[in-house]
Amino acid sequence: NSVFSHVVRGPEDPILGVTVAYNKDPSPVKLNLGVGAYRTEEGKPLVLNVVRKAEQLLVNDRSRVKEYLPITGLADFNKLSAKLMFGANSPAIQENRVTTVQCLSGTGSLRVGAEFLAKHYHQRTIYIPQPTWGNHPKVFTLAGLSVKTYRYYDPATRGLNFQGLLDDFGSAPSGAIVLLHACAHNPTGVDPTVKQWEQIRQLVRSKGLMPFFDSAYQGFASGSLDADAQPVRMFVADGGELLLAQSYAKNMGLYGERIGALSIVCKTADVASRVESQLKLVIRPMYSNPPIHGASIVAAILKDRDLYNEWTIELKAMADRIISMRHKLFEALRARGTPGDWSHIIKQIGMFTFTGLNPKQVAFMTKEYHIYMTSDGRISMAGLSSKTVPHLADAIHAAVT
Ligand code: PMP
Repeated sequence: NSVFSHVVRGPEDPILGVTVAYNKDPSPVKLNLGVGAYRTEEGKPLVLNVVRKAEQLLVNDRSRVKEYLPITGLADFNKLSAKLMFGANSPAIQENRVTTVQCLSGTGSLRVGAEFLAKHYHQRTIYIPQPTWGNHPKVFTLAGLSVKTYRYYDPATRGLNFQGLLDDFGSAPSGAIVLLHACAHNPTGVDPTVKQWEQIRQLVRSKGLMPFFDSAYQGFASGSLDADAQPVRMFVADGGELLLAQSYAKNMGLYGERIGALSIVCKTADVASRVESQLKLVIRPMYSNPPIHGASIVAAILKDRDLYNEWTIELKAMADRIISMRHKLFEALRARGTPGDWSHIIKQIGMFTFTGLNPKQVAFMTKEYHIYMTSDGRISMAGLSSKTVPHLADAIHAAVT
């Protein structure tokens, strides 16, 4: 008899479990709109040309070895990642007030940042938006933080509940941590305007809240890396402190390379260097040091002007294709006379549309149309193509009529 016989089966992950169910479905018309992974017009995963080029450069460089990276990762990668988000002329970088450590994509960056906060920050409560990416509460709870939510999405307008957000930040205890999606909020596709960001910034600073930015989609919201970095840059420009988790999964298509970074912007260079020494103590017993390949790809692209420019063009093409899918789906529903206001499909930003479909309607679409998505009605627009839009529109039409 196994000493583990009391172990009960755990539930599938609510997002990755969608793919598990999809893979089991033999239907030729099946469509996976669950996981947020980019697909081409042909429905295929995409490796960016610029990534192939960078990998070729790495392969041809015989001086490269497979030694361990430092605990904090590849130094070039860290510098370039901070520059990508904070801007080339960021005073915080010039004053050495930023520490950046390479982590295991966005998830690992969030986890290391949260472990650091749980150990060294005076407030253990983190406020996350309602709703948010399903992994957030688990990552933060297991890191030792206590998770609360703030109002974010208004189902009635399918837009931002701005007053609710302000009220909840206003009544949060001073010093509380607030998780902010840097752009392209997941799952809602709803972002504050620049004017609203400025109001959020003022409130966060006046209450001494600690902003923790999660940036999983830089460049995917507007197609411009700089425009999508603007909210974070506003918070850096005021001289205050913050944390930032960056992922290259989506914007460089490096999903499986698990490459990302955690930055902590501090008040002084001296504090930043002591903070970094403690980040090393968080990382070393967890996984010793991060993998080398993804960091080398990103660094090769970010440090070469031509490769960087090529990346921005490919990134914009991905963002544009997603936006065109929004218009195609919206038009297809209009052509079918599907009841309801579907304008949120073209108003929402980034990889996802938060359709407003309820779990029953989602289950119906999966059963009758073999369309897979999370039960909250979120669909990954990046998984759609001109060929599959009509099938999705038929399914939505049937689900709501
Ligand atoms: N944050 C958000 C909001 C996300 O949507 C994702 C990816 N789904 C992540 C973080 C982390 O992804 P990864 O660990 O693959 O970089």
